[in-house]
Amino acid sequence: MIGAGFAGLWSALSAARKLEELDRVDEAEVAIVNPAPFHSVRVRNYEQPLDPTLVQLDTVLGPAGVRLIQAKATSIDSTNRRVTIEHDGASETLDYDRMILAAGSVLVRPPIPGLDRFSFDVDTYAGACKLQAHLLTLPALPDTPGRYTAVVVGAGLTGIELAAELPARLREIVAENDRGKVRVVLADRSARIAQSMGGAQPVIEGALKTLEVEMRPGVSLEALDGQGLMLHDGATSERIEAATVVWCGGMHANALAAQLPVTLDPLGRVPVDTFLCAEGVPGVFAAGDCARILIDGTRPSVMSCQHGRPMGRYAGNNAVCDLFGLEMLPLSIDWYTTICDLGPWGAVYTEGWDRKLVSEGETAKATKRTINGERIYPPKSGVRADIFRAAAPVVQTPPPTERAEKR
Ligand SMILES: Cc1cc2nc3c(=O)[nH]c(=O)nc-3n(C[C@H](O)[C@H](O)[C@H](O)COP(=O)(O)OP(=O)(O)OC[C@H]3O[C@@H](n4cnc5c(N)ncnc54)[C@H](O)[C@@H]3O)c2cc1C
Repeated sequence: MIGAGFAGLWSALSAARKLEELDRVDEAEVAIVNPAPFHSVRVRNYEQPLDPTLVQLDTVLGPAGVRLIQAKATSIDSTNRRVTIEHDGASETLDYDRMILAAGSVLVRPPIPGLDRFSFDVDTYAGACKLQAHLLTLPALPDTPGRYTAVVVGAGLTGIELAAELPARLREIVAENDRGKVRVVLADRSARIAQSMGGAQPVIEGALKTLEVEMRPGVSLEALDGQGLMLHDGATSERIEAATVVWCGGMHANALAAQLPVTLDPLGRVPVDTFLCAEGVPGVFAAGDCARILIDGTRPSVMSCQHGRPMGRYAGNNAVCDLFGLEMLPLSIDWYTTICDLGPWGAVYTEGWDRKLVSEGETAKATKRTINGERIYPPKSGVRADIFRAAAPVVQTPPPTERAEKR
């Protein structure tokens, strides 16, 4: 496996589970290549503190009998079934019989002047830590107009979740007499904030208003310079003085996907069939954000841990089945939910591709807490049987929530 995010970790555990079920543990080795020794629960990067959210990989891979190779994969030779990896400046090649590409996605960074140099992000654990370290320095900075202004650009789910957290987080950091200076702005080029959130859209707007997040729909980021940024609405430009600009402009599949001889989808993803096999590339599977499956037979999967985890469980299982000439399992998920955290206000829970509002506020927040704190984690017991039970190739039922109509 390449990558120990949601898709990679669960594919490795699922492959190890299948080997045990087949009583063939001695006939194949499951190895996972990941640059860090931990599994980053990326969906929580808008939260703080983050260290307690990490899973040390050896605590899960050890009991499951999976070998961790702490390195970065740099190239894939799918013709000769070989992957090149790098660690501490040294490179090495690994031969494989079956490979699962699960290297995830990266934040899209268009060539906007100053974006690379002056923006923060919550795309990775490192990025989120850098943002928090910066926020902690604000009280020591000169008292400029934008010292306590944070602008989040991009109001997809990530941007909304972060913007909802920031007012409270900043108020905790600044001195009491400066708390009134805290200003959080959420900007997006779409006509309305949370435009794609269906029935939850007005609820999200209302929640952000309550949290005193200023909303700037219909604007694009033009440039930033370390003291502020320029937003453009198609006709005029507006400057906002801000010491903190966080870019949440969407995700693109990891560049490793482009090394496979396939036609990538517009998000740079590898097309896979219902068994998670990369189309036309023998021996290669792909899962998570770097793969595109028709998740219910019709709709493309969404870059999400909601889809990444089951894709991983099926890919791991199927890679072992394929290796031993056994029948593989098709993946099909007939439900889709979105649970968006709205900081101290609560959360919203929607059901279906048209995002029908099911619950909101503290009710939805309770569900979000269960997801972020339990559902997406491997068992903490460290017991092999528990880990393998969780790694079985089955589709979970949607996260339970108390429905608004029953309240
Ligand atoms: C702030 C935030 C909030 C989110 N909220 C939600 C949410 O509420 N619900 C939801 O479903 N999704 C959410 N997402 C999206 C979700 O995090 C991703 O879809 C999910 O992490 C994808 O899982 P993955 O395993 O494909 O990739 P990742 O989790 O990104 O894991 C990829 C792994 O591959 C490793 N890797 C990368 N390159 C290499 C390489 N060259 N060699 C070896 N290893 C490599 C990485 O270090 C990482 O460990 C959120 C994302 C963010 C950033």
